[in-house]
Amino acid sequence: MTVRTRIAPSPTGDPHVGTAYMALFNWAFARHHGGQFLLRIEDTDASRSTLASEAMIYSSLRWLGIDWDEGPEQGGDCGPYRQSERLGIYRQHIDRLLDEGHAFRCFCSRETLDEMRAAQRERGETQRYDGRCRALDPEQARARADGGESHVVRMFVPESGSCTFEDHLRGPIEIPYGQIDMQVLLKTDGFPTYHLAVVVDDHLMGITHVIRGEEWLNSVPKHKLLYDYFGWPMPTLVHMPLLRNPDQSKLSKRKNPTSVNYYRDVGILPEALLNYLGMMGWSMPDERERFSADEMAQAFTFDRISLGGPIFDLEKLSWLNGQYLRDLSDDAFMDRLQAWALNRERLSQLVPLLKERTERFADLAPQTDYLLGDRRPLTAEDFAHAKLSAEQVQQILHHYAHYLDALRSWDRDALFAGAQALADYLSLKLKDCLFPLFIAISGRTVSLPLFDSMVYLGSDLTRVRCRDALNLVGVSKKQQKKLDKAYVAFQQALPG
Ligand code: GLU
Repeated sequence: MTVRTRIAPSPTGDPHVGTAYMALFNWAFARHHGGQFLLRIEDTDASRSTLASEAMIYSSLRWLGIDWDEGPEQGGDCGPYRQSERLGIYRQHIDRLLDEGHAFRCFCSRETLDEMRAAQRERGETQRYDGRCRALDPEQARARADGGESHVVRMFVPESGSCTFEDHLRGPIEIPYGQIDMQVLLKTDGFPTYHLAVVVDDHLMGITHVIRGEEWLNSVPKHKLLYDYFGWPMPTLVHMPLLRNPDQSKLSKRKNPTSVNYYRDVGILPEALLNYLGMMGWSMPDERERFSADEMAQAFTFDRISLGGPIFDLEKLSWLNGQYLRDLSDDAFMDRLQAWALNRERLSQLVPLLKERTERFADLAPQTDYLLGDRRPLTAEDFAHAKLSAEQVQQILHHYAHYLDALRSWDRDALFAGAQALADYLSLKLKDCLFPLFIAISGRTVSLPLFDSMVYLGSDLTRVRCRDALNLVGVSKKQQKKLDKAYVAFQQALPG
């Protein structure tokens, strides 16, 4: 048997370190066995998927030095590798499930579903689909669908009993069917949900080992039912422990930068990041801490995985990176530094901003300190402003940070539009409203233009600085809730 593994990231946002983590383990296992590692793009959420995000997945993996054998760009025998291009394949499989009585059409409207859940909530029951369309006559349901009535397709789930399956790291796991919802498999827009697409594609692409995060463990009963309905063997399942913040919570961008771009932009070397990710829940047979991805692949076995939640700790990563930097020759160090930010491409973004504000080259370093390096550490006092109350400062930082989180296109106009809308919404002068943002981004009251600075820094560094500023001004849990509510109102007031 040739080992075939894959990752299936969704192109909805920044390239996540969790994706890099799973890529490394899938890659290492496939390489260890001389097998193949595939990249499939899971763009089943048409409204949130973007090509820009897909491109960043490729560039971040390439930067890390992880290669894949089949994927959307290079193709392969099992393509297409973008799920949005496989709709016909899913349709055929849905038809088969419908014909064989393993799935049913559901015509419930959003309102009906909302009412159903509200009633279940009131009765203190688990909120789930109650199966009302299951009883529809299949022929009549087909006629309604053919007549153009909006519907989804759901899977049948046994009403009693339980599903037992094997996780390679955990052994047998049993989950009662009573906990499993009658999952939607095909959405009203004709796109599959994750659950249908992952099963169909893993099978058709010959995936032998599914190595992914443990958050998918509870979905396995749905997948197992589908494998059984289709009469296909299940691949070996390996659910890796989740990366955690130092406080043990699940790694989240609220607490830790989660984008690979962030680590690249602050000057972490790709080999150090890979080495660090390799240590997350796995260790070398000789327990050494420094190893390359190739060395990991050579030594890789599942039995060295431990299930305790690995802590993704920035300080430890920086320490490891320092070791790598010190091992570089002076020449190599210069090359890496240049490749990082002191190159024509990066500098050409700064020159137009600097030229008109500089009289001597000696002025350059102080003007760009916060762009080339970390901005200076701040305290809550740095945000004090004669025209803004502490609450207003909090609100500006909170709302703008949330605005940035949701922002799709990282350009000057969009960054400006959010700030202008916020100033209007809070009835503040734009200049006053921008003050806390200037401080958050540059650590200075006078700096290069704010929005150009944000464009230069990129989405990750900018978001991290805004969030850090918000933490600094000290928002209590209660205030946070209030601000979250207020943000919804601001969002509704946003133009477009
Ligand atoms: N899009 C899912 C993720 O990135 C894929 C999960 C899976 O590997 O099955 O988490």
